[in-house]
Amino acid sequence: MKVFLDAGHGGKDPGALGNGMQEKNITLPVTLEIGEILKRHGVTVGYTRTTDTFMELSDRANKANNFGADIFVSIHCNAFNNSSAKGVETYSHIGSVKGSRLARSIQNSILSSKLYTVNRGTKTANFAVLRLTNMPAALVEMAFITNGEDANILKNRQNELAIAIAKGILSYLGILYKGGNTMTNTNDTPSEWAKEAMEWAKKEGICDGTRPKDAATREEVVTVLYRFSKKVK
Ligand SMILES: [Zn+2]
Repeated sequence: MKVFLDAGHGGKDPGALGNGMQEKNITLPVTLEIGEILKRHGVTVGYTRTTDTFMELSDRANKANNFGADIFVSIHCNAFNNSSAKGVETYSHIGSVKGSRLARSIQNSILSSKLYTVNRGTKTANFAVLRLTNMPAALVEMAFITNGEDANILKNRQNELAIAIAKGILSYLGILYKGGNTMTNTNDTPSEWAKEAMEWAKKEGICDGTRPKDAATREEVVTVLYRFSKKVK
């Protein structure tokens, strides 16, 4: 699988500005971290930029097309002249069924990570990078740089944003998320209310206690039930 990641803006184009931040300086580290997570899952990753450089929108799309990407994901921050606007939204190109499925997968992953202030939903738009790329494409507006609460997420929770977006991409590709981001995994400790049950399950050999915050697949659920049935017999 080949995924092409597009860190919005760069170089002479700072993107949106707000709360002392420039969009280009948020999209780049998040994009690079998404790439690292995807690579650890056997995905081949291409980038429009890996440094603070400018690139035209058409060149971004051409680079993805030449790379032969299976999917294209563009990473952005939102902005509005009214600072009360906030939340996450993900776009696909008008009429692209696969693109909208990819957008939904990313949006849903961010929603389930609770890393947002408002769910603005999935939308369609005629953005150049979505129109000119010839593979399923999505553009995620992670949060509003112009809103105080959202800016705090963009500034301090980039690693979690990267994990959430990577999970959404992997889910679309049908690849099971195995964790293992480069920074500290904030999801490694079970919630207070679940600690006792997790300890019990580990002790009884029902699960190994890893990835406490990850969703379970059907095969994992069945395996847990199977192991439990062996205990109660
Ligand atoms: Zn942007």
